[in-house]
Amino acid sequence: MNYWKKFSHEERLEHIKKALGNNVNFAQDPSLGYPASKLDGRVFHDEAPFLKDSPTLQAFVANPNHIGCHTFGTSEKAFKGTQAIEREVLDVIAIDVFKAEPDGFDGYIAPGGTEANIQALWIYRNYFIKNFGACCSEIAIIASEDTHYSIPKGADLLMIDWCRIPVDSETRAISEITLEDSIKDAQEKGKKYFIVIANMGTTMFGSVDNTDVYTDILQKLGAHFKMHVDAAYGGFIYPFSNPASELHFGNPHVSSLTIDAHKMLQAPYGTGIFICRKGLIENVLTKEAEYVEGMDLTLCGSRSGANAVAVWMILFTYGAHAWFEKISVLQMRTAWLCKQLELLGIHYFRNPYMNIVTIKSNGISESVAQKFDLVPQKHDPTNQWYKIIVMDHVEIEHLSLFIQTLKDERKGLSKKLGSLFSILRILLKFRDEQESYL
Ligand SMILES: *Cc1c(COP(=O)(O)O)cnc(C)c1O
Repeated sequence: MNYWKKFSHEERLEHIKKALGNNVNFAQDPSLGYPASKLDGRVFHDEAPFLKDSPTLQAFVANPNHIGCHTFGTSEKAFKGTQAIEREVLDVIAIDVFKAEPDGFDGYIAPGGTEANIQALWIYRNYFIKNFGACCSEIAIIASEDTHYSIPKGADLLMIDWCRIPVDSETRAISEITLEDSIKDAQEKGKKYFIVIANMGTTMFGSVDNTDVYTDILQKLGAHFKMHVDAAYGGFIYPFSNPASELHFGNPHVSSLTIDAHKMLQAPYGTGIFICRKGLIENVLTKEAEYVEGMDLTLCGSRSGANAVAVWMILFTYGAHAWFEKISVLQMRTAWLCKQLELLGIHYFRNPYMNIVTIKSNGISESVAQKFDLVPQKHDPTNQWYKIIVMDHVEIEHLSLFIQTLKDERKGLSKKLGSLFSILRILLKFRDEQESYL
């Protein structure tokens, strides 16, 4: 970890103050050309005393616009201070966590994982069009049925087909035979170029795809492909809990990644992170964005620089070691929950490196699921699973209340069954007595 450090409150305050100082100051500088300003001063007082100690809120009020991409070419100079903060965030995630080469990647803080995933699909669609003369009908997305719905959303927008690969209902793993058949079938239908989405933590199960299954078969079938890792949910857990993970830029097949800071990292919404290897993001350059200095390589256009500051603050408050410790605690709580479920004989799925436990719905009554706000896989009667996510606010105390409720419910049930049996016994005895009179 060369970039991820731990800073004191004073160091963080000083660092962000300096960055904001390098941005345009709408309150003082004669800046006449921007359709932007600091936040409305009548509503958001920039002299409020609590701002002094809060770099994130200072950035929020200063309202820098991070339009464009700041790892590539030039950028709007008015916001160069906080753009540098964004690059520091990307260095930590791309290089320290996901093993990219320094200066070997491009990326930005997108409004969310949905945009980051669509950005990846957009880049690869254009890559195949520009480099191979492909047409949209020759390109297909390959992803498991547990993949996030942002992928079918992107497929719809970009007019490319999605091959939805079924998974085993217990292990949530893609089967090699089905995958091979699906790809062969797609090839027969004229698909020549494939965009693979590998999941690092699916939303419902926390399952992690084995990328070798994809790459081995695609190579065997001689198909052109690019692989994107959707680590929107798992990106701030899995690399820490499983150091042997191969879902990073050290793997030559991995071309890009999505990591949401607004999930596990508990950053404000609007902090989905997109990172790709150098040489790819140019595929979505919008040349017509001429008024933006450096032009635009992103899907969203304007975006808040305060979000970059918020993510930076979280990363540099913890440092890598304290983050590892936090993940370890969540892993321990998850293991505790799994053990209790096993003792109760309740069936569940959990990837051993993740903090999601997805429980078979026949082990959980609807009233317990409602009481503890468990999220169902489907909001209809065909639902088969409920999930528990062991986030920071989910402590053993809460989990043990959940387990106790399951136990009480069972006791209540066996009591009811017990009294039913006693009534039955009395009735039978009564009948016997009646018969003996006859
Ligand atoms: C949440 C999530 C997304 C989409 O993220 P948003 O930030 O809600 O747009 C994509 N993929 C996975 C696996 C997710 O869990």
